[in-house]
Amino acid sequence: MPERSKKSFCITVNKKNGQQTIALINKLGICDKTLQIKKGPKDKLYIPLTKEPTNEDITQLNLVISEFQLDTQVFLQKGRQEKTLADLLKNDIPKNLIEKIPRALDVIGDIAIVEIPAELELYKNSIGMAILKVHPNLHTAFSKIGAINGVFRLRDIEFLVGNNTSTTLHKEYGCTYHIDVAKVYFSPRLSQEHWRISSLVKNGETVIDLFAGVGPFVIPIAKKFPDVKIYAIDINPDAVEYLKINMKINKIKDQIVPIIGDSRKIVKEKFFGLADRVIMNLPETAYDFIDVACKAIKSAGGVIHFYGFIRLPDTIEAYQQRFREAVECNNRKVVKFDFVKPIRETAPYEWQVVLDAQII
Ligand code: SAM
Repeated sequence: MPERSKKSFCITVNKKNGQQTIALINKLGICDKTLQIKKGPKDKLYIPLTKEPTNEDITQLNLVISEFQLDTQVFLQKGRQEKTLADLLKNDIPKNLIEKIPRALDVIGDIAIVEIPAELELYKNSIGMAILKVHPNLHTAFSKIGAINGVFRLRDIEFLVGNNTSTTLHKEYGCTYHIDVAKVYFSPRLSQEHWRISSLVKNGETVIDLFAGVGPFVIPIAKKFPDVKIYAIDINPDAVEYLKINMKINKIKDQIVPIIGDSRKIVKEKFFGLADRVIMNLPETAYDFIDVACKAIKSAGGVIHFYGFIRLPDTIEAYQQRFREAVECNNRKVVKFDFVKPIRETAPYEWQVVLDAQII
């Protein structure tokens, strides 16, 4: 075995599932980032793991990845250790503040959006420059100002360094999105959900996305299922403009109908009892729209993908029960929850949660 090689557990997947597998094993904490991913025959990828996956890991993998094998392989070790932000900033920032340097970034296309703690305000441009040095594929850094707010769910951002533009092209699971991060909502942290929902759809369905944004749920569905009709509503005209651009980039014609407006009004006017599947990603106020989703679903029943927040001491069981009761208030019934999961921590003691509910 060459000196810089190492035998390791690995997961073998088809290349087209590579990105989503890497995202998941990162989340499970079993991705070995010190070793290089290898290509195999017939579009196979061998992705190194830090250990043999537990039964719990395998359950998670089975939920998300259609086909994989667990194996061992010899991998090349990665070369030079990458420099961290702290390495680059150690001469610019007082020692006692080094531990405050942000560890997480949102990366949308070639733009980094970072939360700079108040104590580091003076050093924000140096932090921006260091981010672009550590990530040479990124060309612009913005800092977050305040929380996501307003009906359009936007966050104020401040330009730090790089190309002074807030538009970029973002790639996710084979789809490309043109996005203006200052004018529309987009979260790369939901990429796995965008992919997961698209994998549940069946040809022939009618789908309504009540809060479609620039299209990260509907575009993958349209690309995978040419016989699915999709109505994509958003109240933010810029989001719908970018959705239309994204339909063109991804070669989708009239299979998606983009609609500007309040989904409550639109469903009432046009889409009563039309949908097999309704997507609702507006976690802050989604409960106020359960009646709209119930009206949109066919009388024979369908599925609602419902995103919300739970904050401790709230529990996921109580959250399901509130959803069930709200559905019953609208003369429908939850037959079954197909999937219930906290998908990401959004603040201390707060999680974004998804429910996939079959209703009749
Ligand atoms: N689904 C997209 C995604 O995951 O990227 C966007 C989600 S974002 C959290 C919520 C979206 O709902 C925003 O784009 C906002 O403009 C839109 N929105 C808010 N209230 C709405 C309403 N009453 N009717 C239609 N869209 C609405």
